[in-house]
Amino acid sequence: MAKYIFITGGVVSSLGKGIASASIGKVLEWNGYKVALVKCDPYINVDPGTMNPYQHGEVYVTDDGAETDLDLGHYYRYTASPLSRISNVTTGKVYQKVITKERRGDFLGGTVQIIPHITNEIKNEIRQVEKKHNVDIVLVEIGGTVGDIESLPFLESIRQMKNEEGPANAINIHLTLVPFIKAAGEIKTKPTQHSVGKLREIGIQPEILMVRTEKPLTAAAKAKIALFCNVREDCVIEARDVNDVYEIPVMFKNNGMDKSILEKLNLKQKKGSGAKRWKKLVEIRKSTKKTVRIGVVGKYITLQDAYKSIDEALKHGAIANRVKLDLVKIESGVIENKTPGDIRDVFKGIAGVLVPGGFGVRGIEGKLAAARYARENALPYFGICLGMQIAVIEFARNVCGMKSANSTEFNARTKHPVISLLSEQKKVKCMGGTMRLGAYRCKLSPGTLARKIYGTDQVMERHRHRYEFNNTFRDRFRKHGMVFSGTHPKGNLVEIVELKDHPWFLAVQFHPEFRSKPDRVHPLFRGFVKAAIAKET
Ligand code: GLN
Repeated sequence: MAKYIFITGGVVSSLGKGIASASIGKVLEWNGYKVALVKCDPYINVDPGTMNPYQHGEVYVTDDGAETDLDLGHYYRYTASPLSRISNVTTGKVYQKVITKERRGDFLGGTVQIIPHITNEIKNEIRQVEKKHNVDIVLVEIGGTVGDIESLPFLESIRQMKNEEGPANAINIHLTLVPFIKAAGEIKTKPTQHSVGKLREIGIQPEILMVRTEKPLTAAAKAKIALFCNVREDCVIEARDVNDVYEIPVMFKNNGMDKSILEKLNLKQKKGSGAKRWKKLVEIRKSTKKTVRIGVVGKYITLQDAYKSIDEALKHGAIANRVKLDLVKIESGVIENKTPGDIRDVFKGIAGVLVPGGFGVRGIEGKLAAARYARENALPYFGICLGMQIAVIEFARNVCGMKSANSTEFNARTKHPVISLLSEQKKVKCMGGTMRLGAYRCKLSPGTLARKIYGTDQVMERHRHRYEFNNTFRDRFRKHGMVFSGTHPKGNLVEIVELKDHPWFLAVQFHPEFRSKPDRVHPLFRGFVKAAIAKET
């Protein structure tokens, strides 16, 4: 029987609930417990796959091909939690299931209602994780902020589950904010009191409060929160702002977060593994002086979360090479229609260029200019998904002499469709969940950069795309020096391309960033950052 921790958030959004949940998972692992994390999202989309990055941020893809919330990426980077389709529960998914049952006649003439039908389905979804995986603790993060209309059915489900599981088997940790009011010169606890009041109104008494604050939480403030929120004083835990998100589990360990949680769950503090290694990497991030400047050229640059896993994987690459990452985000539109001199100015001081995934024609020409600049100036280039397709189109146009080369995604009638729709995509009509998704095998050719970096002849990587390299052009590209270093063993799909006469030019059709952790860096990110350092020095 697994125990449950429900994590809710109050006062404001963007408190970092995902990272906090992942960090709690981590400290529990350091105590020798196996954890699984689940994210509940109150929106009506079935999954975030069809949402614009401006609305949602990155879509994180699991091995089994689910398009999920980006918090699953945090869970992956911090913990060993199993992650799959069942790790992300959305209102859309829950309603879809209930309505399908209703149409089938499963409810035998009954009126279908939020309580109990929707809440039962939510509880079923959450409990699937415990049924499928042999873990000690399931951590369930509820998206949104307490007080939102949309999250009410999820909160009601927690209330019911806490009763059903029993007191020491299910607890609620509520994350709040204690703002510092400059004019008064002090921190204020009232918003936290109100937020907990809101939870208690619907029958949830949190066991632990995790209090985000920029200033230290004074003993008086702690006592006040404890009194007004009906929480024991030692269960009001300060979560101070830190410079480095990877420091948060260490902070939780130091301030006794794990001790309070385990006590509430009637579990012992044990000795697990991994803490030493993690602390060491936090130390490396603090102490390294040398920096490497990497440019990411994309079109969702203004949104912080759009390329979350890429940003983090680059940090991991930097840790592995013991340098600090100086990440420069370049809006692809800005380098469109620019003179070579202007482009040179944009890339001045940049030691490596990464072009991430994306959809639609906007910003394409800027990305092509970036790939060309990197190719012609021996600047390390790392293309990911669309970034690989860009590398291919650029090479076709400027090396193979196919001036009008394009992807059929951007020009359906191009004379040289070097990137074209995957054959399995031709019959696809619905947009949701229909891309080539999830983990596929990739065979690496001997003597290539990819093979050398991975150090093995086959890998599994996660995909999310509809278009691919058009094989009719393979020979022509090969003749001009493009190397097809990774292919799908059966379908003969091109998964990795690289360039012969270039120090580090590698582009992949998959998303390696989803499989990088600070303490287990993805080899391609390690290799790319290493090449950038070599370029810099
Ligand atoms: N738009 C491209 C495709 O669908 C690339 C997708 C991506 O970068 N994830 O193939």
